Amino acid sequence: MNTVDEKLQPILSTVLHRNAGEPEFHQAAREVLESLGRVVARKPEYSDEALIERICEPERQIIFRVPWIDDNNQVQINRGFRVQFNSALGPYKGGIRFHPSVNVGIIKFLGFEQTFKNALTGLPIGGGKGGSDFDPKGRSDREIMRFCQSFMVELHRHIGEYVDVPAGDIGVGAREIGYMFGMYKRLNNRFEAGVLTGKGLVYGGSRARKEATGFGTAFFLRSMLETRGADPEGMRCVVSGSGNVAIYAMEKIISFGGKVVACSDSAGYIVDENGIDLSLVKQIKEEKRGRISEYAALRGDGCHYVEGGSIWDVPCDVALPCATQNELNGSNAKVLVENGVKAVAEGANMPCTPEAVRLFQDANVLFAPGKAANAGGVATSALEMQQNASRDSWSFAQTESRLEEIMTNIHASCHETAEEYGVPGDYVLGANIAGFVRVADAMRAMGVI
Ligand code: GLU
Repeated sequence: MNTVDEKLQPILSTVLHRNAGEPEFHQAAREVLESLGRVVARKPEYSDEALIERICEPERQIIFRVPWIDDNNQVQINRGFRVQFNSALGPYKGGIRFHPSVNVGIIKFLGFEQTFKNALTGLPIGGGKGGSDFDPKGRSDREIMRFCQSFMVELHRHIGEYVDVPAGDIGVGAREIGYMFGMYKRLNNRFEAGVLTGKGLVYGGSRARKEATGFGTAFFLRSMLETRGADPEGMRCVVSGSGNVAIYAMEKIISFGGKVVACSDSAGYIVDENGIDLSLVKQIKEEKRGRISEYAALRGDGCHYVEGGSIWDVPCDVALPCATQNELNGSNAKVLVENGVKAVAEGANMPCTPEAVRLFQDANVLFAPGKAANAGGVATSALEMQQNASRDSWSFAQTESRLEEIMTNIHASCHETAEEYGVPGDYVLGANIAGFVRVADAMRAMGVI
């Protein structure tokens, strides 16, 4: 069992004390501190506890009121958040999540993870995250627009292309980014393309951004399988979720010759032994914003829908949790291991509980943590910033090949770091240490700030 090194225990206690009632942030910080014990033991230059404590403390946390008027002329009030976690490597960078579960602890854990993830990309981006407890489900397009506009009326004063660059996350896609960008532009009277990423192509977005997180996860999976002389071809895959990440992870895996047999949404999952028909999933989820249950009725034979339940009961070689945090727990992991799973890559942020991760690692299942495996999205956001800064627009092939190269490098750096620290194949430790070292180097250079 992993434990936090004695020297780092006071930092963990401080984190728990300062952030009472924020279990997801505690979980994320504990995991990183567990990995850093090895660094502190071996490298005196990184054993500065005050530096590590600073890395666990966000630079700034903003909480604001978001009032808006619904279609029945009623005033609604939500809470908005932006946690600007760390700007040692570049402007704060990270998505905005609209989901009823959002609170400051969730945004803080995501901002913390984002800091290490962004460092792993090797690109000049710091870490941050934002969101609201607004529930977009069932809201009309006009309600979404009014909400996004009100959210930006406050957020605009805290962001900028050299300050903080938000993007999408759960509940925020190109439509929401468009509404927010429009309001930002109006409030500032500036066409500052680099202030948000995930924009529509026609006003400064990047090709392959929509596909990037899912494609990146599939690239990472392929590299990880390669270390054992395997590849995704012919592998049976189960992918949770049916949003952007899941859809494009499935697309790339199918193009590698893998067979995806199940995917889900928050209400249930579908199993299709003929292999998931992606164009049908896209039609339901992207065009109609519908429910995955509709798939079974439209697809017919060989396919069934399970209301609720656990998608991880479906036997597979590869499991890709692409829905949300802590969606895959210890008992799910046990079932997957018993059914012979060979590799797990996190498309979502922290979807596996610590117990699940331990079970995978103990069973010698390849395991890729989200901060490495899903870094393709934010990496392509940084490519979007590059295109905006140079007033350029790259082709799909050019953007995708940069993404592939970045994911290959992230894999190599996690793999090599794990080896260097004496735990070959431990991607959790490799990702945490490789990300930490980059952030720490920049912070050390800048003095106590
Ligand atoms: N929300 C995505 C993530 O979790 C992307 C963030 C971005 O592109 O800034 O990494």
